[in-house]
Amino acid sequence: MNERALFLDRDGTIMADVGYPSDPRQVHLLPNAAEGLKVLQERNYALVVVSNQSGIARGRLTLEDAQRVNAELERQLRQRADVRIDAFYLCPHLDRDGCDCRKPKPGLIERAIAEHHYDRTGSVAVGDRPRDIAAGRAAELRTVRIVGGPHADERGVAADYDAEDLLDAARWIIAGEGNGAQQGDARAAS
Ligand SMILES: [Zn+2]
Repeated sequence: MNERALFLDRDGTIMADVGYPSDPRQVHLLPNAAEGLKVLQERNYALVVVSNQSGIARGRLTLEDAQRVNAELERQLRQRADVRIDAFYLCPHLDRDGCDCRKPKPGLIERAIAEHHYDRTGSVAVGDRPRDIAAGRAAELRTVRIVGGPHADERGVAADYDAEDLLDAARWIIAGEGNGAQQGDARAAS
């Protein structure tokens, strides 16, 4: 059976959204972020970060800066709760570039699924902005929005669940597993 995945927005979902972070010193984990990811990792969800990084196209940071920020995020997650990110996918483009990867388009998620063959049915997209939720829906995933951050007032596509933080998200995701597992067993038996 293919591995299920959590497709995670980065800024505003795992770490504080400071706007075009280019320096590892700007990485600050959000409350309960590492703890929630730990719970899901222990239930064998792959943790995949899918992030719009238009600051690269804007000249605010380089791809190498973005990778250093990602490395620091990984270091803090590991140190805090022994959490390991399985893959990072980022879109360096602007809206006007017309790429297929900038959220709300599902291109980053679709690329990850194509490369890692994740189980779409059991997977979930998590983000703090409507475009994260729209990307998840376009990829036919369940969706969770992290509320309470600076983008909480943005209107758009509603998520299946609004969570206080990633630990709250993890509880909702796990609570919904029962039905999916039974359906999976029924399919396997027939
Ligand atoms: Zn793109």
